[in-house]
Amino acid sequence: MTLKTDVAIIGAGPVGLFAIFECGMVGLRCHVFDALDVAGGQCSALYPEKPIYDIPGFPRISGAELVERLETQAAPFNPVFHLGQRVDQLQRLADGGFRLVTSKGLTLEAGAVIIAAGAGAFGPNRPPLPGIESYEGKAVHYYVRRAEDFRGKRVVIAGGGDSAVDWALALHGIAAHIHFVHRRDQFRAAPDSVAKLGQLNGRGIDIVVPFQLAALEGDGTSLDAVVVTSLDGENRRLEADALLAFFGLKSDLGPIANWGMELALHHLPVDPATCQTSQSGVFAIGDVATYPGKLKLILTGFAEAAAAAHAIYPLLHDGQPLHFEYSTSKGAPGLAAD
Ligand code: FAD
Repeated sequence: MTLKTDVAIIGAGPVGLFAIFECGMVGLRCHVFDALDVAGGQCSALYPEKPIYDIPGFPRISGAELVERLETQAAPFNPVFHLGQRVDQLQRLADGGFRLVTSKGLTLEAGAVIIAAGAGAFGPNRPPLPGIESYEGKAVHYYVRRAEDFRGKRVVIAGGGDSAVDWALALHGIAAHIHFVHRRDQFRAAPDSVAKLGQLNGRGIDIVVPFQLAALEGDGTSLDAVVVTSLDGENRRLEADALLAFFGLKSDLGPIANWGMELALHHLPVDPATCQTSQSGVFAIGDVATYPGKLKLILTGFAEAAAAAHAIYPLLHDGQPLHFEYSTSKGAPGLAAD
C-alpha cells in the first residue's frame, strides 16, 4: 500500500521535529522518517543527558528533554513516524510530487519533501557478535535515552570512550550491577571520569579488562549472559539483562547524495529565504543545509523549518500565497488559547 501525505520529512532530529510543528501551523500534514529507532537525532543519540545552553527561553535543557518537548509540541498535528528505517529512494512523480521508498520497503507519496538529515543516517558500529540483530532495541542498545530504563537490571557496558564511561557512572546505583568491559586497560574517556570509574570498581561496577565481547547467551530476545574473552583466550561469562555497546556511531549521507540535488562537501546548498535545494519541491533544513554564513546550531534549524513550511504552502495550494499570521493570533491545536 502506498501512503500519501503533504510533506515527507527525512530525519527526526530536533530540526525535523520542529518542522512538523511549523508545517502543522500552516495546515500541512507530515510523515517523518528516521534511520534511528528513536526521534531526536544527535540530541538523543550523542548527548541525551548533556545540558544545552543556547535554546531560546531555556537557560539549560538536556538533549533528551528538548526532544521530549519538541515531540509534545508536534503531537497535536498527528505526525506519522516511520522510525528504524532509512529513506533510500526519492523519485519525482509526473504530477510534481514525490515517491519515497525506505529500507523496509515502505512507500510514501508526498507533495513536498523536507530533508532534515543532519550529517546523514545514523547507524551504530555494531560488535560482530552472531545473532546480535535480534536482541537490538530489546536487550542490546547502542545509545541510552533514559537511565531509568535500566533500573534494577544487570548491565554489561562495553567501550572505552566518554559514552561508555559516562553511562557507567550515570547508571551506578540505578542498575543492579554493572560489568564494564574494555579490550585495553587504558581508556579514551575524560581522565576525571575514568578516575571516578576506578573508585567504583568492586562497589557496584566491576571493570573487566583487557577483555572483548565474544558471544551473547539468551533466547534471541532476552539476554542471560554476555561472554567475553581475553587476548590470551580466557573466557568469562557475565550474567546480564542488557548489553550497552558504545563503539561509536557512524553517519552516512548515503542515498541522499544520489537524488540529483546539488551537493557541497556533503551538504545541500539551499536558498536561505526558502530552504529550497537545487530541486524544486525538495527543501533542506538543519545541519544538512548550507548557504553563506550558515551556523550549524539547533536554533538556526528551527528558523529554517519555518522558512521551508511557508515556502511549501503555496507549492501545494496552486501558488496561493500563505496569509501570514502569528501563533498568538492563530492559536495552536491542542493548546488552550487565553
Ligand atoms: P540531526 O540531529 O543530525 O538529525 C538528523 C537525523 O536524520 C538523524 O537522526 C539521522 O538518522 C536521520 N537521517 C539522515 N538521513 C536519513 C535517511 N536517509 N533516512 C532516514 N533518516 C535519516 N547545537 C546547539 O545548537 N547547541 C549545543 O549546545 C549543541 N551541543 C552539541 C553537543 C554535541 C556533543 C553534539 C554532537 C552536537 C551539538 N550541537 C549543538 C549540534 C546539534 O546537535 C545539531 O546542530 C542538531 O542536532 C542538528 O539537528 P538536525 O535535526 O539538523 O540533524
